[in-house]
Amino acid sequence: MECLFCKIIAGEIPSAKVYEDEKVYAFRDIHPQAPVHVLVVPKQHLASADAVTPENSGTASAVFEAIPRIAKAEGLKNGYRIITNCGEDGCQSVQHIHFHLLGGRKLPESMG
Ligand code: AMP
Repeated sequence: MECLFCKIIAGEIPSAKVYEDEKVYAFRDIHPQAPVHVLVVPKQHLASADAVTPENSGTASAVFEAIPRIAKAEGLKNGYRIITNCGEDGCQSVQHIHFHLLGGRKLPESMG
């Protein structure tokens, strides 16, 4: 297994876990860019948003079912931002689809 996030999900590399269910694992980003910066990751390995298909989209929807629960547990009462970087132009650095959950302060309006 070469994938960093697969290793984190398997417990082979330590992480600061904030949430786990049958299909989803979430942990704190090692380089936080906001007071709350959680990575929400499906346990099923998909390379990026570009790999989502009708056959595997349940993987993505499980993430979006988990996000409101995680946001509530993190105290993000006033909103938050979800970002997924995809591919080279999207500056994706880990090739396992993941969603950045950012919040805890007013975020910049600009997204790119
Ligand atoms: P991206 O650039 O969108 O692919 O996001 C990858 C994210 O993973 C970055 O925000 C990194 O800070 C984060 N990251 C990399 N390695 C780890 C790790 N071992 N534990 C937690 N977060 C990590």
